[in-house]
Amino acid sequence: MERKNVRFDRVERATALALLVCTFAVASNAAPPPVQSITSGSARASLLELYTSEGCSSCPPAEAWLSSLVTSDRLWKDVVPVAFHVDYWDHLGWVDVFAKPEYSERQRDYAAAWKADRVYTPGFVMNGREWRGWLEKQKLPTASGDAGALAFTVTSDGVATIQFQPAAAPKSQAPLVAHVAVLGAGLSRKINAGENKGKTLVHDFVVLDYQSTTLRTGSGRTWAGSTKWQAERIDTPTRYAVAVWVTDNRAPIQAAGGWLEDQAVRELSMSDERNETMSKINKSETEWKELLTDDEYRVAREKGTEAPFTGRYWNHHEDGVYVCVACGQPLFSSATKFDSGTGWPSFYEPVERQNVDDYSDTSHGMVRTEVLCSRCDSHLGHVFDDGPRPTGLRYCINSVSLKFVPKDGKDQKK
Ligand code: FE
Repeated sequence: MERKNVRFDRVERATALALLVCTFAVASNAAPPPVQSITSGSARASLLELYTSEGCSSCPPAEAWLSSLVTSDRLWKDVVPVAFHVDYWDHLGWVDVFAKPEYSERQRDYAAAWKADRVYTPGFVMNGREWRGWLEKQKLPTASGDAGALAFTVTSDGVATIQFQPAAAPKSQAPLVAHVAVLGAGLSRKINAGENKGKTLVHDFVVLDYQSTTLRTGSGRTWAGSTKWQAERIDTPTRYAVAVWVTDNRAPIQAAGGWLEDQAVRELSMSDERNETMSKINKSETEWKELLTDDEYRVAREKGTEAPFTGRYWNHHEDGVYVCVACGQPLFSSATKFDSGTGWPSFYEPVERQNVDDYSDTSHGMVRTEVLCSRCDSHLGHVFDDGPRPTGLRYCINSVSLKFVPKDGKDQKK
């Protein structure tokens, strides 16, 4: 019945599983001490995936339902929830900062596997199969049978080791594959445009980082592998969790999950190499025109400049992060914003050096350094060397190239 409210998108490509760009650490013989372990029992736990978007009006009820699992006895024990945010509704007017093209592609791969010609949100996938039970108000099914013990261990060098001892021999000849998703919970986000305009959405189980790695057989029947975390922390969740699942020929056979302790988060984030994770965005000018307002397009894509003292952020003083208006990449923090008196928002440094690119700009008879978003190449403004300490730099940025993400809700649900 709610199905008519569900948003659909055509499957354009029925390609094989898109390979994600990630790096995997090789487990060392002299293993550093473990910081935290998350394990499953031998009984099978279900992997429940939700494909969702902040830009889709049908999604908040599904996310609220998923959030109800936070206090469920079944959480982690027999269900491991993960929410992949997709980017195919960004053109509706709101860019979902948690969405990645890979996550949309992952959903399209599923749709192609079950020969559906479209993907939709909110879309649930239970153990690799489409699950319409939520739409039909069914109870969450319980998996049955023994699957084997799955363990995820964070060690003091920031490496996450996965070990799996299957209850039965794998069905396929191919090696088992482990999947690790670092999740954020309690992420409160005010939506300022698109179908959910004016709403404040709270997300739980949001996938902030996803990697997969082929497991190898070692002693006995144990399969093992390892990964390093590369999550981008767009907002600070109140809690982090990890979801781990093992697939045999792409079918999930066991899952485990749990909340991460603070020390594990620290160890994992110290191994963070976020600069490699943000995939470059390449859209046609027609696509950018659809996604952006006329003003945003003129400045971000045609290197325009807004008039001083007219933009929405030159005199804006809330705490939060300024992300790219075109792609959502975090660019500047309110902590580094200062009043330059120029009438444009000014910062002394970006949130991450690799999130902006500098280019020499010799237009208008001047030699200046242009600043671009490193992910989507949108024009942001210019950088000058007359800024305050500690960097001495002044990033002079057009408000219209930015979108402010407040830090509100940070301390909820702790
Ligand atoms: Fe961008």
